[in-house]
Amino acid sequence: MSNIQDKVVIITGASSGIGEATAKELAAKGAKLVLAARREDRLQKLQQEIQKDGGQAIYKVTDVASHEQMEELGAYVLEEFGKIDVMVNNAGVMPLSPLSQLKVKEWDTMIDVNIKGVLYGMAAVLPFMRARKEGHIINVSSIAGHLVFPASAVYSGTKFAVRAITEGLRLEEHANNIRTTLISPGTIATELLDSISDVELKAASIEANQKVQIAPASIARAIAFAIEQPADVAVNEMIVRPTIQEL
Ligand code: NDP
Repeated sequence: MSNIQDKVVIITGASSGIGEATAKELAAKGAKLVLAARREDRLQKLQQEIQKDGGQAIYKVTDVASHEQMEELGAYVLEEFGKIDVMVNNAGVMPLSPLSQLKVKEWDTMIDVNIKGVLYGMAAVLPFMRARKEGHIINVSSIAGHLVFPASAVYSGTKFAVRAITEGLRLEEHANNIRTTLISPGTIATELLDSISDVELKAASIEANQKVQIAPASIARAIAFAIEQPADVAVNEMIVRPTIQEL
Protein backbone atom coordinates (compact mmCIF):
# COMPACT_ATOMS: atom_id res chain seq x y z
CA MET A 1 0.00 0.00 0.00
CA SER A 2 1.30 3.46 -0.88
CA ASN A 3 2.31 5.67 2.04
CA ILE A 4 0.06 8.27 0.40
CA GLN A 5 -3.10 6.17 0.82
CA ASP A 6 -5.66 7.89 3.12
CA LYS A 7 -3.38 10.84 3.89
CA VAL A 8 -5.27 14.12 4.16
CA VAL A 9 -3.46 16.59 1.90
CA ILE A 10 -4.25 20.29 1.52
CA ILE A 11 -3.00 21.87 -1.72
CA THR A 12 -3.08 25.64 -2.20
CA GLY A 13 -3.14 26.89 -5.76
CA ALA A 14 -4.94 23.71 -6.77
CA SER A 15 -6.99 25.39 -9.50
CA SER A 16 -4.27 25.15 -12.17
CA GLY A 17 -0.74 24.13 -13.11
CA ILE A 18 1.41 22.36 -10.55
CA GLY A 19 -1.29 22.34 -7.85
CA GLU A 20 -3.86 20.76 -10.15
CA ALA A 21 -1.39 18.14 -11.42
CA THR A 22 -0.34 17.33 -7.85
CA ALA A 23 -3.97 16.87 -6.81
CA LYS A 24 -4.52 14.38 -9.63
CA GLU A 25 -1.30 12.48 -8.90
CA LEU A 26 -2.02 12.18 -5.17
CA ALA A 27 -5.70 11.33 -5.67
CA ALA A 28 -4.67 8.45 -7.93
CA LYS A 29 -2.48 7.21 -5.06
CA GLY A 30 -5.35 7.26 -2.57
CA ALA A 31 -4.92 10.61 -0.80
CA LYS A 32 -7.88 12.57 0.54
CA LEU A 33 -7.47 15.92 -1.16
CA VAL A 34 -8.44 19.37 -0.01
CA LEU A 35 -8.27 21.76 -2.96
CA ALA A 36 -7.80 25.46 -2.20
CA ALA A 37 -7.59 28.51 -4.50
CA ARG A 38 -9.77 31.48 -5.44
CA ARG A 39 -11.40 30.27 -8.68
CA GLU A 40 -14.31 28.13 -7.57
CA ASP A 41 -15.31 26.93 -11.05
CA ARG A 42 -11.84 25.42 -11.56
CA LEU A 43 -11.83 23.78 -8.12
CA GLN A 44 -15.28 22.32 -8.70
CA LYS A 45 -14.27 20.93 -12.10
CA LEU A 46 -11.12 19.35 -10.65
CA GLN A 47 -13.07 17.85 -7.76
CA GLN A 48 -15.50 16.28 -10.24
CA GLU A 49 -12.66 14.89 -12.38
CA ILE A 50 -10.99 13.34 -9.34
CA GLN A 51 -14.25 11.84 -8.11
CA LYS A 52 -15.04 10.48 -11.57
CA ASP A 53 -11.72 8.63 -11.49
CA GLY A 54 -12.57 7.13 -8.09
CA GLY A 55 -10.53 9.59 -5.98
CA GLN A 56 -11.55 11.67 -2.96
CA ALA A 57 -11.52 15.46 -2.93
CA ILE A 58 -13.23 18.38 -1.29
CA TYR A 59 -12.52 22.04 -1.93
CA LYS A 60 -12.66 25.39 -0.19
CA VAL A 61 -12.39 28.75 -1.93
CA THR A 62 -9.47 30.40 -0.16
CA ASP A 63 -7.24 33.43 -0.67
CA VAL A 64 -3.86 32.44 0.78
CA ALA A 65 -3.07 36.10 1.41
CA SER A 66 -5.81 36.19 4.06
CA HIS A 67 -4.72 34.86 7.44
CA GLU A 68 -8.37 34.53 8.44
CA GLN A 69 -9.28 32.46 5.37
CA MET A 70 -6.28 30.19 5.86
CA GLU A 71 -7.26 29.57 9.48
CA GLU A 72 -10.79 28.78 8.28
CA LEU A 73 -9.32 26.35 5.76
CA GLY A 74 -7.42 24.47 8.47
CA ALA A 75 -10.49 24.34 10.71
CA TYR A 76 -12.67 23.12 7.83
CA VAL A 77 -10.28 20.26 7.05
CA LEU A 78 -10.17 19.15 10.67
CA GLU A 79 -13.97 19.22 10.76
CA GLU A 80 -14.28 17.20 7.55
CA PHE A 81 -11.44 14.70 7.96
CA GLY A 82 -10.34 14.95 11.62
CA LYS A 83 -6.66 15.34 10.72
CA ILE A 84 -4.18 17.03 8.36
CA ASP A 85 -1.25 14.93 7.20
CA VAL A 86 0.29 17.14 4.52
CA MET A 87 0.15 20.83 3.64
CA VAL A 88 1.37 21.77 0.17
CA ASN A 89 1.94 25.53 0.08
CA ASN A 90 1.99 25.86 -3.70
CA ALA A 91 -0.03 28.99 -4.56
CA GLY A 92 2.12 31.67 -6.15
CA VAL A 93 2.22 34.55 -8.61
CA MET A 94 5.06 35.84 -10.78
CA PRO A 95 4.44 39.33 -12.21
CA LEU A 96 8.05 39.87 -13.28
CA SER A 97 9.26 43.41 -13.95
CA PRO A 98 12.46 45.44 -13.60
CA LEU A 99 12.62 47.31 -10.29
CA SER A 100 12.85 50.60 -12.21
CA GLN A 101 9.22 50.20 -13.35
CA LEU A 102 8.17 50.63 -9.69
CA LYS A 103 5.23 48.23 -9.93
CA VAL A 104 4.71 48.50 -6.20
CA LYS A 105 1.27 46.88 -6.19
CA GLU A 106 2.73 43.81 -7.90
CA TRP A 107 5.57 43.71 -5.34
CA ASP A 108 2.96 43.77 -2.59
CA THR A 109 0.97 40.98 -4.22
CA MET A 110 4.04 38.76 -4.57
CA ILE A 111 4.96 39.31 -0.94
CA ASP A 112 1.37 38.69 0.19
CA VAL A 113 0.84 35.51 -1.83
CA ASN A 114 4.30 33.98 -2.14
CA ILE A 115 5.62 34.72 1.36
CA LYS A 116 2.69 35.50 3.66
CA GLY A 117 0.58 32.82 1.96
CA VAL A 118 3.20 30.21 2.83
CA LEU A 119 3.46 31.48 6.41
CA TYR A 120 -0.32 31.47 6.85
CA GLY A 121 -0.42 27.95 5.40
CA MET A 122 2.12 26.83 7.97
CA ALA A 123 0.22 28.62 10.76
CA ALA A 124 -3.01 26.88 9.76
CA VAL A 125 -1.59 23.39 10.30
CA LEU A 126 1.42 23.64 12.61
CA PRO A 127 -0.33 23.63 16.01
CA PHE A 128 -2.25 20.53 15.01
CA MET A 129 0.82 18.73 13.62
CA ARG A 130 2.88 19.62 16.72
CA ALA A 131 0.18 18.27 19.03
CA ARG A 132 0.01 15.06 17.03
CA LYS A 133 3.80 14.87 16.58
CA GLU A 134 3.33 14.02 12.94
CA GLY A 135 2.93 15.94 9.72
CA HIS A 136 4.54 17.12 6.51
CA ILE A 137 4.80 20.66 5.16
CA ILE A 138 5.83 21.06 1.53
CA ASN A 139 6.67 24.56 0.30
CA VAL A 140 7.07 25.39 -3.37
CA SER A 141 9.98 27.71 -4.09
CA SER A 142 11.65 27.93 -7.52
CA ILE A 143 14.95 27.99 -9.34
CA ALA A 144 14.38 31.71 -8.77
CA GLY A 145 14.78 30.93 -5.08
CA HIS A 146 18.38 29.95 -5.82
CA LEU A 147 19.27 32.42 -8.59
CA VAL A 148 18.27 35.97 -9.49
CA PHE A 149 17.37 36.73 -13.12
CA PRO A 150 16.77 40.07 -14.88
CA ALA A 151 13.32 41.35 -13.78
CA SER A 152 13.04 38.70 -11.07
CA ALA A 153 14.35 40.72 -8.11
CA VAL A 154 11.12 40.74 -6.10
CA TYR A 155 9.88 37.31 -7.26
CA SER A 156 13.30 35.83 -6.44
CA GLY A 157 13.22 37.66 -3.11
CA THR A 158 9.95 35.92 -2.24
CA LYS A 159 11.25 32.52 -3.31
CA PHE A 160 14.57 32.97 -1.42
CA ALA A 161 12.37 33.80 1.59
CA VAL A 162 10.40 30.57 1.15
CA ARG A 163 13.70 28.68 1.21
CA ALA A 164 14.86 30.41 4.40
CA ILE A 165 11.50 29.91 6.10
CA THR A 166 11.39 26.23 5.16
CA GLU A 167 14.88 25.61 6.52
CA GLY A 168 13.89 27.45 9.71
CA LEU A 169 10.83 25.26 10.00
CA ARG A 170 12.96 22.14 9.58
CA LEU A 171 15.37 23.26 12.29
CA GLU A 172 12.60 24.09 14.73
CA GLU A 173 10.23 21.21 14.09
CA HIS A 174 12.27 18.13 13.14
CA ALA A 175 12.27 17.06 16.80
CA ASN A 176 8.47 17.15 16.68
CA ASN A 177 8.59 14.58 13.89
CA ILE A 178 7.35 17.11 11.32
CA ARG A 179 8.79 16.60 7.87
CA THR A 180 9.61 19.58 5.65
CA THR A 181 10.19 19.61 1.92
CA LEU A 182 11.27 22.53 -0.24
CA ILE A 183 10.68 21.94 -3.91
CA SER A 184 12.25 24.23 -6.49
CA PRO A 185 10.86 23.73 -10.00
CA GLY A 186 12.57 24.88 -13.16
CA THR A 187 10.48 25.93 -16.16
CA ILE A 188 7.06 24.29 -16.07
CA ALA A 189 4.20 24.68 -18.56
CA THR A 190 1.52 26.43 -16.49
CA GLU A 191 -0.43 29.70 -16.35
CA LEU A 192 2.22 31.38 -14.19
CA LEU A 193 3.38 33.85 -16.86
CA ASP A 194 -0.17 35.21 -17.22
CA SER A 195 0.47 37.52 -14.28
CA ILE A 196 3.25 39.47 -16.08
CA SER A 197 1.75 42.88 -16.92
CA ASP A 198 4.60 44.13 -19.13
CA VAL A 199 3.45 43.02 -22.59
CA GLU A 200 6.92 42.70 -24.14
CA LEU A 201 8.42 40.92 -21.16
CA LYS A 202 5.48 38.52 -21.08
CA ALA A 203 5.84 37.66 -24.78
CA ALA A 204 9.62 37.17 -24.42
CA SER A 205 9.16 35.01 -21.32
CA ILE A 206 6.54 32.83 -23.01
CA GLU A 207 8.82 32.37 -26.03
CA ALA A 208 11.83 31.47 -23.87
CA ASN A 209 9.85 29.10 -21.65
CA GLN A 210 8.26 27.26 -24.55
CA LYS A 211 11.72 26.13 -25.67
CA VAL A 212 12.42 24.17 -22.50
CA GLN A 213 9.29 23.74 -20.38
CA ILE A 214 8.13 20.41 -19.00
CA ALA A 215 4.72 19.28 -17.79
CA PRO A 216 3.44 20.13 -14.28
CA ALA A 217 3.05 16.39 -13.69
CA SER A 218 6.87 16.30 -13.39
CA ILE A 219 6.62 18.33 -10.18
CA ALA A 220 3.56 16.39 -9.03
CA ARG A 221 5.59 13.17 -9.17
CA ALA A 222 8.40 14.76 -7.14
CA ILE A 223 5.91 15.87 -4.48
CA ALA A 224 4.39 12.39 -4.41
CA PHE A 225 7.89 10.91 -3.97
CA ALA A 226 8.52 13.10 -0.92
CA ILE A 227 5.18 12.17 0.65
CA GLU A 228 5.44 8.46 0.03
CA GLN A 229 8.74 8.01 1.87
CA PRO A 230 8.48 6.22 5.22
CA ALA A 231 7.74 8.55 8.18
CA ASP A 232 11.38 8.51 9.33
CA VAL A 233 12.63 9.83 5.97
CA ALA A 234 12.36 13.53 5.10
CA VAL A 235 13.16 14.63 1.56
CA ASN A 236 14.16 18.14 2.57
CA GLU A 237 15.03 19.70 -0.78
CA MET A 238 14.51 19.00 -4.44
CA ILE A 239 15.40 20.95 -7.59
CA VAL A 240 13.54 19.64 -10.63
CA ARG A 241 14.47 21.24 -13.95
CA PRO A 242 13.79 20.35 -17.56
CA THR A 243 16.85 18.36 -18.66
CA ILE A 244 17.70 20.96 -21.31
CA GLN A 245 17.34 24.03 -19.03
CA GLU A 246 20.72 25.65 -18.37
CA LEU A 247 19.97 28.06 -15.47
P1 NDP B 1 -0.31 28.69 -12.08
O1 NDP B 1 -0.50 30.13 -12.40
O2 NDP B 1 -0.84 27.69 -13.06
O3 NDP B 1 -0.91 28.36 -10.65
C1 NDP B 1 -0.86 29.26 -9.58
C2 NDP B 1 -1.91 28.88 -8.58
O4 NDP B 1 -1.83 29.77 -7.46
C3 NDP B 1 -3.32 28.96 -9.14
O5 NDP B 1 -4.03 27.81 -8.76
C4 NDP B 1 -3.90 30.19 -8.46
O6 NDP B 1 -5.29 29.98 -8.21
C5 NDP B 1 -3.14 30.18 -7.15
N1 NDP B 1 -3.15 31.48 -6.49
C6 NDP B 1 -2.63 32.65 -6.92
N2 NDP B 1 -2.89 33.63 -6.04
C7 NDP B 1 -3.60 33.06 -5.04
C8 NDP B 1 -4.19 33.55 -3.85
N3 NDP B 1 -4.10 34.85 -3.48
N4 NDP B 1 -4.85 32.68 -3.05
C9 NDP B 1 -4.97 31.38 -3.39
N5 NDP B 1 -4.43 30.86 -4.50
C10 NDP B 1 -3.77 31.70 -5.32
O7 NDP B 1 1.26 28.51 -11.86
P2 NDP B 1 2.14 27.28 -11.33
O8 NDP B 1 1.36 26.05 -11.20
O9 NDP B 1 3.36 27.29 -12.15
O10 NDP B 1 2.54 27.82 -9.88
C11 NDP B 1 2.56 27.04 -8.71
C12 NDP B 1 3.79 27.37 -7.90
O11 NDP B 1 4.94 26.93 -8.58
C13 NDP B 1 3.98 28.87 -7.63
O12 NDP B 1 4.37 29.05 -6.28
C14 NDP B 1 5.12 29.23 -8.56
O13 NDP B 1 5.85 30.33 -8.09
C15 NDP B 1 5.93 27.94 -8.54
N6 NDP B 1 6.85 27.76 -9.65
C16 NDP B 1 6.40 27.65 -10.94
C17 NDP B 1 7.30 27.52 -11.97
C18 NDP B 1 6.88 27.44 -13.40
O14 NDP B 1 7.74 27.47 -14.29
N7 NDP B 1 5.59 27.32 -13.71
C19 NDP B 1 8.75 27.47 -11.73
C20 NDP B 1 9.11 27.56 -10.34
C21 NDP B 1 8.19 27.70 -9.35
P3 NDP B 1 -6.44 31.08 -8.23
O15 NDP B 1 -6.06 32.12 -9.24
O16 NDP B 1 -7.67 30.30 -8.61
O17 NDP B 1 -6.52 31.61 -6.84
